Amino acid sequence: MKTKNIDFIAAPVPPHFVGNAFRVHNFIPGIPRLDMKSMDPFIMLDYNSKFNFPPTDSPRGVGVHPHKGFETVTIAYQGKVAHHDSSGGGGVIGEGEVQWMTAGNGILHKEYHDEEWSKKGGDFQMVQLWVNLPKKDKSTPPKYQALTTDNIKKVELDNKAGTVELIAGEYKGTKGAATTFSPIHMMNAKLNKGGKADFNFPAHFTTTLLVIEGSIKVNGKEEIPTDHLALMDRKGEEFQLEATEDAIVLVLSGEPLNEPIAAHGPFVMNTRDELVEAFQDFNEGKFGYLE
Ligand code: MN
Repeated sequence: MKTKNIDFIAAPVPPHFVGNAFRVHNFIPGIPRLDMKSMDPFIMLDYNSKFNFPPTDSPRGVGVHPHKGFETVTIAYQGKVAHHDSSGGGGVIGEGEVQWMTAGNGILHKEYHDEEWSKKGGDFQMVQLWVNLPKKDKSTPPKYQALTTDNIKKVELDNKAGTVELIAGEYKGTKGAATTFSPIHMMNAKLNKGGKADFNFPAHFTTTLLVIEGSIKVNGKEEIPTDHLALMDRKGEEFQLEATEDAIVLVLSGEPLNEPIAAHGPFVMNTRDELVEAFQDFNEGKFGYLE
C-alpha cells in the first residue's frame, strides 16, 4: 500500500446566497482545479460555513425548483434543514444528519430552514453535495433517503481518538446505510485534539476532505485549517488524519464514472440533446407537481 498525499488545498471563495437560506462557498465546480471532470463523480459542492441567522417567523429557503440526472446530498452540521419533493419525499434533518435525494429522471423540490428552528435562529452550517448518476441510472425513479442519528453508523476509534460517523460506503468493515449507484464512501470524522484516524481508498477514486471544525494534519505533514478543502492525489491508497484541535472532517471518496458530462443549471446529463430534452420535460410538467 502506498501513501495518498494532498494534491491541492483550496481556501473558501467569497460566499453567495442560494435563496435567502444558504450562504455558501462554492468549491466544486467554482474553483478551477475542482471542476466537474476532475472531481467526478462529485459534480457540485456548496459549503455554508458557520453563519448566524436571526430569528424569524417565516422560514428562509429556496422555493420549488427542478433537478434531473444526479443526486443531491445535504449534510446538516448546525441548524435544521427541511425538504419536500414531488415524489412525496420529505423530512427535517439536524446536526450530523443527511438528506439523500435521488433526482433521477426528474423531480421538483424545495429546501428550507426548519420552521421551529427558524423561530429561535442561531448558527447554521451545512454542505450540499451533488453526486452524479451513471448514464445507465439517469432515468431511475426519484427516491429519498433520510440518514438520521438512528441509522448513521458510528465507528469508535482506538485510543479515544474520536468517532467516524458513516453515511455511505465502508469504514474498517462497517457499512453505511445510504444506497448509492456507484461506489462512494462518505463519512464525518469527529476527532478529539491529538486523535488520529486512518483511511484507505482505492488510488484512482476521487478523494477529498472538507474541514468543518478545527484543523487537521494529513500524514503528519501539511495542516488544513477550518473551512478549507483538500483534494488528495491518485498515487496511493492510505492516509492518516490527526486533529491539531478538536475537529470535524467530511471525508469523501468516489469512483469516477468517466462518462461525458453535459450540465446546465439544475440538470446534469451526458449529452446536449439530453439537456434540451430535460428542459422540455420540465416545461411540460413531467417532473410532477409540488406546491
Ligand atoms: Mn435543490
